[in-house]
Amino acid sequence: MKATVFERHGTAPALVVRDVPSPAPAADQIVLRLEWAAVNHLDLDIRNGVSGMAVCLPHTLGTEGTGTVFAVGSAVQRWRIGQRVGTYAFRTCRQCKNCLLGRQNMCLDVRTLGGQLPGTYAEHVVVREDQAVAVPEGLSLQDAIASYKYATAWEALVTTASLQPGELVLVTGAGGGVGVSAVILARHLGATVIAATGSDAKNERLLALGASHVVNYRAADLPAAVRALTGGAGVDLVLDVAAGDGLRNAIAATRPGGRIAVVGAHAGERVEVDMLDLFRRHISIHGCGRYTTDILQSVFQALARGLPPVPVHGVFALADAGLAHQVMEARDFFGRLLLYCGAGPVPGVGRF
Ligand SMILES: [Zn+2]
Repeated sequence: MKATVFERHGTAPALVVRDVPSPAPAADQIVLRLEWAAVNHLDLDIRNGVSGMAVCLPHTLGTEGTGTVFAVGSAVQRWRIGQRVGTYAFRTCRQCKNCLLGRQNMCLDVRTLGGQLPGTYAEHVVVREDQAVAVPEGLSLQDAIASYKYATAWEALVTTASLQPGELVLVTGAGGGVGVSAVILARHLGATVIAATGSDAKNERLLALGASHVVNYRAADLPAAVRALTGGAGVDLVLDVAAGDGLRNAIAATRPGGRIAVVGAHAGERVEVDMLDLFRRHISIHGCGRYTTDILQSVFQALARGLPPVPVHGVFALADAGLAHQVMEARDFFGRLLLYCGAGPVPGVGRF
């Protein structure tokens, strides 16, 4: 089969198409014939050799993929050939304390697809049978792959922070993948959304996707702007994608008793916080990040029932994965970057 691999760590041109052996399933595994893969920042970190994950070279990237079941292992019960599925990125140990408590996203000994395991930048991928989620009738494989970031946003907003209809939500880094997804999802679930971004270029799109207000946190004092928009009260919930100094602004923009869900730390991993302010105002901060198969299934079902898919910025052939990485590195995009793993010409971007 064809796979896009890198044979040495380096810049985007390190990604090359190679013929590699097609995987065969072990007893508890399935092989997927992939139609789509998606590009994530993690892929760039792994390619650059700065992810902290040890990979075997040549390595195939890709944590997310959608396609059909192509082969099943001898002990597989839950899948049959031809079923449409999406990958679950994490191969858990199934025996640590968290796994036994049903918290598979907090497994203490996890392997990641496209990290320690060969990924989805390929025509086929092999996963353990519990690393797949059914794509329901009425949901296309393209919309499913485009919408994986909803699972991260869902874990933060719904599972961890218990978002309720009618609440006021601030999404920081709203122009990024998780941020855009959080804006659409929070609005879809009945919240009023304030989107914070670092530039005005994405304002109109964020408003069109459901944000009630957009604040440029570089041009305005974000807590003051949020107070002005909320009658001085602050928001009920913040989804913060980047930590750093922005986390202090998130705390200042939160009402007493409010919650903050943090899903990333690209803006700064160490933050000085005024604990007096935090506990006097009963504000809670939650770390989030990984979703579960149940959450991904909930996302797929919500999409089939009318949750709009996450916008797609561009689709690329497997052979052009390096170009997709360059687009992501340039940061000048809005929505997901997809790789077409199927046969024939690359389909169009669709409604976006
Ligand atoms: Zn575990």
